[in-house]
Amino acid sequence: MSDALTAHTWFEFSGIEPNPTYDTLIKAQAIIKSENIDYLLAVGGGSVVDGAKFIAAAAFYEGDNEDNDPWNILAKRQTITKALPLSAILTLPATGSESNGNFVVTRHGNKLPCSSPLVRPLFAVLDPSVTLSLSDRQIGNGVVDAFVHTIEQYLTYSVNGKVQDRFSEGILQTLIEEGPKALLPATKENLDVRANIMWSATMALNGLIGAGVPQDWSTHMIGHELTGAFGIDHARTLSIVLPAVMKVCREQKHEKLLQYATRVWQINEGDDSNRIDQAILLTEQFFEQMLVPTRLSDVNLGSDDIDLIIERLQQRGMTALGEKRNITLAVSREILTQAL
Ligand code: ZN
Repeated sequence: MSDALTAHTWFEFSGIEPNPTYDTLIKAQAIIKSENIDYLLAVGGGSVVDGAKFIAAAAFYEGDNEDNDPWNILAKRQTITKALPLSAILTLPATGSESNGNFVVTRHGNKLPCSSPLVRPLFAVLDPSVTLSLSDRQIGNGVVDAFVHTIEQYLTYSVNGKVQDRFSEGILQTLIEEGPKALLPATKENLDVRANIMWSATMALNGLIGAGVPQDWSTHMIGHELTGAFGIDHARTLSIVLPAVMKVCREQKHEKLLQYATRVWQINEGDDSNRIDQAILLTEQFFEQMLVPTRLSDVNLGSDDIDLIIERLQQRGMTALGEKRNITLAVSREILTQAL
């Protein structure tokens, strides 16, 4: 890649960790100022792209005289008014960050999300061959993250958005078909498998399937607290929380759960309740195939740990989650209890 940049003056900033931290990212501001940086190229996975978005916005953050800490962009949910232009060279398909304006930054165990069209990458290079060096854990996490991004925008209630639904079902089916192949010795080097996974992850969160339809995101909001409090990989919080959301919200999501059972899993036998049970079970089995946990007990958490998560959700005002804003703290507790 450095060959492609020979005609440019460039500087490297490395060391952005998974779940990028404010403390690391803020160090980039010194280089940006001293070298007059006018463009950012994020080379890495979702965390690096997310981190670059924060760096891009922080470079122009002014605040006011008393408080010019760029953390306010997230902590006080301030609107980004100016950012450095950025692009991405993706090495890990998962978050879709290369194709949207969303990013998440962690500071002192607080993982906060933010979004702005000003930090959406101007272009992104997706080369599936670079994903061949990923570990099984990174592959499993990536496939599951993309799967849950799709579900958050699909498994709500029907507004007769046929194109959005069928795009979503296509992404889910592709991840179910191709994801396990990327872990099997006989097929894991197959570039078509990797390309289909990579493209699925991008399409899952570039705005296409979510346009004009209700969105849930409760699994992600509860999951962010599990990552912030206990350091669990992002995707692994999702694989633990999602099956419990499906179970606890099965009445509200009844119609879409049935559609999911029929169209994604081809379940056509049994009464409604039985078909939904089967679809949830197959979802859990798919996660297990991708080698991620599906219970809090799988990551050594128990009922005593639920209070802390509820407390954190409360502190952040996450008291009305889900597509109908009816996942109160009591329902979040029910979801976490279901996930034990
Ligand atoms: Zn995610």
